[in-house]
Amino acid sequence: MSKALENLLREDRKFEPSPQFTAQANARSGIHEEADADYQGFWHRQALERISWYKEPTQVLDDSNPPFFKWFSDGELNLSYNCLDRHLESHGDQVAYHWVGEPGDTRSLTYADLHAEVGRFANGLKSLGLEKGDRVAIYMGMIPELPIAMLACARLGLVHLVVFGGFSSEALASRILDSDCRIVITQDGAWRGGKVVPLKANTDLSVVQTPGIEHVIVVRRTDNEVAMMDGRDIWWHDLVEGQSTQCDPVALNAEDPLYILYTSGTTGKPKGIVHTQGGYLTSVVTTHSFVFDIKPDSDVYWCAADIGWVTGHSYIVYGPLANRTTGVMYEGAPNFPDFSRFWQIIEDYKITIFYTAPTAIRAFMKWGDEHVAKHDLTSLRLLGTVGEPINPEAWIWYHHNIGNENCPIVDTWWQTETGSIMITPLPGAIATKPGSATMPFPGIAADVVDEEGRSVPLGGGGFLTITKPWPSMARTIYGDDQRYIDTYWTRFPGSYFPGDGCKRDEEGYYWLLGRVDDIMLVAGHNISTTEVESALVSHPSVAEAAVVGRKDELTGQAIAAFVTLRASVEGDEALLGQLRDHVATTLGPIAKPASIVFTNDLPKTRSGKIMRRLLQDISENRQLGDVTTLANADIVQEIADMADSGSADS
Ligand code: ATP
Ligand code: MG
Repeated sequence: MSKALENLLREDRKFEPSPQFTAQANARSGIHEEADADYQGFWHRQALERISWYKEPTQVLDDSNPPFFKWFSDGELNLSYNCLDRHLESHGDQVAYHWVGEPGDTRSLTYADLHAEVGRFANGLKSLGLEKGDRVAIYMGMIPELPIAMLACARLGLVHLVVFGGFSSEALASRILDSDCRIVITQDGAWRGGKVVPLKANTDLSVVQTPGIEHVIVVRRTDNEVAMMDGRDIWWHDLVEGQSTQCDPVALNAEDPLYILYTSGTTGKPKGIVHTQGGYLTSVVTTHSFVFDIKPDSDVYWCAADIGWVTGHSYIVYGPLANRTTGVMYEGAPNFPDFSRFWQIIEDYKITIFYTAPTAIRAFMKWGDEHVAKHDLTSLRLLGTVGEPINPEAWIWYHHNIGNENCPIVDTWWQTETGSIMITPLPGAIATKPGSATMPFPGIAADVVDEEGRSVPLGGGGFLTITKPWPSMARTIYGDDQRYIDTYWTRFPGSYFPGDGCKRDEEGYYWLLGRVDDIMLVAGHNISTTEVESALVSHPSVAEAAVVGRKDELTGQAIAAFVTLRASVEGDEALLGQLRDHVATTLGPIAKPASIVFTNDLPKTRSGKIMRRLLQDISENRQLGDVTTLANADIVQEIADMADSGSADS
């Protein structure tokens, strides 16, 4: 460990805003108070100031039928117009996306280019007889045609359903059936890690199970041979051939559906979350602008998520384009052709704002600092993270190695269901603490409550709740209002329950503790898996850790840990002992893992989140549960074998 890094770790771990953000801090002082005093007024003002409406809303929140809340429901707008047309007159030549293909090819699309492509494709969709409200599945990799397809749907009032290109044909089929789509848009193949993922072939396997699908539209991206079925399958380039670039955006009601998106499936069967137009756009443009401190004329912004997840919907497509941001989109794997791909992209495009996930940061740490050190990252001024609680050690690494110690880090807590960022620092305005998402965004009312729903005083932990509606909240689970009520609105009547545990420190900072289902009860003590994992990751030999509570006759639950070591480290008995002691000294003896298994990898969802429920099944020798959203399925058996051998058990 470098001297500087050691010093950082020894500090009391609070980072005051860097001086270059003082102006923003001043501009934003009082904004939380202002929003607290009148949250509906705050959101109404954002809606009117940041969005172009055909008919401005006079109604703000309609809470006549909870939990089915509506926002701005007499307003009319079009999101494609807001993302494209309104920028054309003065900024048509500004780049909307610099796109980097995995094999090394590149494209840059200006706002005028994107507008023209969206117009042509929307006219193509119209020619197929699609009508407002029809559902359109999009099963693609990270190529420009993906946002083009989404925006074309938004232009016509079609409801898009983006399915992550890493999913199987089974996962695609079940989502198409659940949401009753009429067409699928896909590609011949997608580049990933130097190989072609056969998206069209997967789609063919899906659509034999989905009789509602009338057409499959196929983008030519690779030279992958594909079978085209007469009458059903259409090449994208044939569909847009001869189409006008002009396509009038349809005026939509603020509460018309915009998209359906399935949750990541970390905790079980994915839920088809429905988002609507006006409230959704209001929240995403406002949060994107504040949280990332967007300066449209100078920033180059890279959200390295996949558009198949909500992060991509809100912070690659709708938020950034509506805010006239210049963005970067990368097609492929972060380790192709080598471990420095991301840093090369940041250097090449002089990226100023970079947003990624803890799982990626832990991978970068594991691969070694030398891949980062070769590159000039001095263009960066702001960093973000989302997806899981970030281990403080990973936060510090990100701050030091990527941010050169002068970029604020925004740790953003939110979900598919919330549509937009809910708990987050505002750069410049809120001092950060590694591992804490800090404070609710202005206009968002959160609380931490106990089993009975009583607010827990500062310094205590419990269940995170959101106590007032917000514009981009999910409207329902598609086709299953009852599941929406049961999942989110029943546990704590009157509040939204996200399912996450949380603790607040004496200063009111929020520390997310992971899923409440993951919180362990060991000898009468509640212990969060997140905290034990972070304690393990703070050991210099550890790259990544997953912790579960397994049944134990003596203590109720015993802590079982699965640990991935850094590239150069060998795991042995001595290290096992050290790690257990390290956790005991960091968190107290009660948190000491009863068993530790060393493993090369951890089971994760396709979005990169650790799948603890599988590890729990392994630890308790149960039948393995649903693995359809599991990325590295082989590892499950491997870990099961190692756990069986029981060598690490105490
Ligand atoms: P499913 O709901 O199907 O189990 P999922 O919850 O993983 O899947 P997402 O909506 O993609 O699906 O993820 C949201 C969840 O991710 C949050 O509820 C929280 O548990 C976690 N999360 C996201 N960002 C953060 C963050 N900054 N800090 C802590 N946890 C986070
Ligand atoms: Mg969830």
